[in-house]
Amino acid sequence: MTQKKPNLEMLLSKPLSRFPFFIKSFFLFIAVIFFFNAPVFSQTPRKIKTIIIDPGHGGQDNGARGEYEGTLGSLEKNITLAISMKLVKDLQEAMPDVNIIPTRTTDVFMSVHEKAKFANDHRGDLFVCIHADAVDLKTGSRIIGYRKETYHTTKYEGKGKHRKKIVTKHTREVPIKQYYKIPTSRKGTSTLILAARQTNDKIKALEAGDLGFNTAENDSTADINYESPEYKASALIYTQHYFKKSYQLASDVQDEIAKTGRNDLGVWQRQKGLWVLHATQMPAILIETGFVANYDDERYLNSDKGQEEIAQAITRALVKYRNQAEGRTTATTAAATNTK
Ligand SMILES: [Zn+2]
Repeated sequence: MTQKKPNLEMLLSKPLSRFPFFIKSFFLFIAVIFFFNAPVFSQTPRKIKTIIIDPGHGGQDNGARGEYEGTLGSLEKNITLAISMKLVKDLQEAMPDVNIIPTRTTDVFMSVHEKAKFANDHRGDLFVCIHADAVDLKTGSRIIGYRKETYHTTKYEGKGKHRKKIVTKHTREVPIKQYYKIPTSRKGTSTLILAARQTNDKIKALEAGDLGFNTAENDSTADINYESPEYKASALIYTQHYFKKSYQLASDVQDEIAKTGRNDLGVWQRQKGLWVLHATQMPAILIETGFVANYDDERYLNSDKGQEEIAQAITRALVKYRNQAEGRTTATTAAATNTK
């Protein structure tokens, strides 16, 4: 491909010029993509200059809603914004030389396309989405009283012309039922990443099906053709350059969450349904901070203490990740961690 190797074609039994046009076009296409993603090829560790924080949902998109009996009635979009604002503040203190940019700071709607474009336009080095889980709740019922109901029975007496119809009125008590949503017993924090397109056996072993997280709603506005060449090409780039980093960052987040004593639900990979992570050309994670539909988690997620604890855990993970990525010493790590 380069001018420094003029003998390459002569060494090949089939010179490059004999490759069909479409094959050459394909390599050119890949080469162009790699050119525009040139930083990933640099040997020196890339400095993390910009981190994009994305509070999930917003505006007319409420996300998950507390609807079980006894719920605070909280909306996911408010929880994600509150945690994100604390996270932005904590990150600015811990990494004053890094741009920390939230996709939204108020209750506004942005499509996943707009969010991905925002992250790319701001040249983010990391993309962190903050969400809270939704689950389908079971319905329970209880008897809250009785009401009287009248009903009639009919019988016939006699035969032939003397046959008579006798209708009798009765009353009976019927229970009055009340239906309610039962909160989920599931609680804790998990982190999602987009699965690598071509995975080896070891990574495949880590792959798991759906935990039951309703994360698909994150991408409800995206209509994507997973079979299109564009999707496959960018999925390949993700696999080659961003998957391992995303996985590392997600693991760091879960480690720090576990240290708080909170239930660590682990790192989960998904092949589809995380369009916003896929569209950002940078390592990206989606943190499901907790369950709006769980009694304890809903209160934790709405409390200043809970929001701050999660924000600080994510901050420590990002500091750790950045130190690793930039090849900093442990001493610097300790200093950076101790600034808090
Ligand atoms: Zn969500």
